[in-house]
Amino acid sequence: MSTVRLLLSWLLFKEVAALSGNFWHITDHHWDPTYKLTDNPELVCASSGKRPAANAGKYGDYACDSPWLLINSSVYAMKDILPDPDFIVWTGDDTPHVPNKDLGEEAVLHIISNLTHIINQVFPNTKVYPALGNHDYHPKSQLPAGPNSIYNQTAEMWQDWLDPESRVTFKKGGYYTEKLLNRTGFRMLALNTNLYYDQNKLTQDMDDPAGQFKWADQVLTEAAINKEKVYIIGHVPPGFFEKKRSTLWFTPKFNKLYLDLIQRHHSVILGQFFGHHHTDSFRMFYNSEGSPISTMFLSPGVTPWKTTLPGVKDGANNPGIRVFEYDPETLLVKDVVTHYLNLTHANAARGRWEKEYRLTESFRLPDASPASMHQALERIANDRCYLQKYYEFNSVSYDLTECNSECRVDHVCAAREVDFDRYEHCLEKEGAAAIYGGLLAVLSVAVSLVLANR
Ligand SMILES: [Zn+2]
Ligand SMILES: [Zn+2]
Repeated sequence: MSTVRLLLSWLLFKEVAALSGNFWHITDHHWDPTYKLTDNPELVCASSGKRPAANAGKYGDYACDSPWLLINSSVYAMKDILPDPDFIVWTGDDTPHVPNKDLGEEAVLHIISNLTHIINQVFPNTKVYPALGNHDYHPKSQLPAGPNSIYNQTAEMWQDWLDPESRVTFKKGGYYTEKLLNRTGFRMLALNTNLYYDQNKLTQDMDDPAGQFKWADQVLTEAAINKEKVYIIGHVPPGFFEKKRSTLWFTPKFNKLYLDLIQRHHSVILGQFFGHHHTDSFRMFYNSEGSPISTMFLSPGVTPWKTTLPGVKDGANNPGIRVFEYDPETLLVKDVVTHYLNLTHANAARGRWEKEYRLTESFRLPDASPASMHQALERIANDRCYLQKYYEFNSVSYDLTECNSECRVDHVCAAREVDFDRYEHCLEKEGAAAIYGGLLAVLSVAVSLVLANR
């Protein structure tokens, strides 16, 4: 190759490289400091409750929250896979699923501090955008709509990451906004949606807890005036849990206000990144004409903990972490790459984090824009192969059983409809479609039997 051609291809490479940015999204670590290997499966970890941790190994057990080794290995896996991301989004839930009496404020702060420390130590030069989860408070889920010692102390713990102005709003209501990576035209908006969680007894009677809706509306209005592009991060998502029919997190009035906020400002919002489910899923937002306008990505958790939510069958997951690739000029989400640890294999041999899947490859999409994610959802809704693939990724390749027609309705309607009434309508429509499809299948078998017997 001539020197000129070499130079040209190098310039081209530089150009392509400059067009791609990436960041980590990690969430729901739920460190259980009581985890230990013992002969009695009921004594392995406090977070299993009364359930036996039958397959406990050094990286954890599906009945338990994360041992420190799992958390440590996830952070070092991030360093191995993508050592120099543009930034890290960390959407909370650091403490184990144990009764309030077994934690207390000091223990909660100690756990948040240990996680902060390891992320900071492994990524000393990387900007981290943290958000609080409903488990990052004592008592759990009771995050107040005003100043308190946990907001104060976490704001101080995160002083290397947050701007002084962010720390001021964070201490008031657990939320903040700042320019994304200090670049003009790009913004991060970190919301404290724990204030909208229906388990939060302190905020149920309020119209706008901590004035967050009014504030977010103002931030997004100004973003439009200043021609900024915005990413929104938070912990508890609006809409429904895809693993259990009609299970929601937000109080209805707050769900509606959140949906209104996104519909009003979707033109500046280029992505929403949330946790809390521990599963891998997404939520679509549409305008009144039914066009896709925004996507909320729900990233899988690091904890493998099998949910105790009644009605969820075998709701554990493999530990997952994920990289988002984006266009640094427009903030368009281009791709999502999920990496995971097969816990059973890790305990049996050595812990190896591997790539689980790349979104655009697995769902044959050009990118991860709202239009493409809508296309992915249509494929999942209408093609059994895509549905099954999505379903296996949903538990980070833990539950490989078949997603039947009931399961299909639950997952499709949760992803398609964040609005409560529209979700119920979707259940009816898709449920009827499933029955109709089933009848058709029975009919076609009957017809072919009749024909065969002729
Ligand atoms: Zn969680
Ligand atoms: Zn949570």
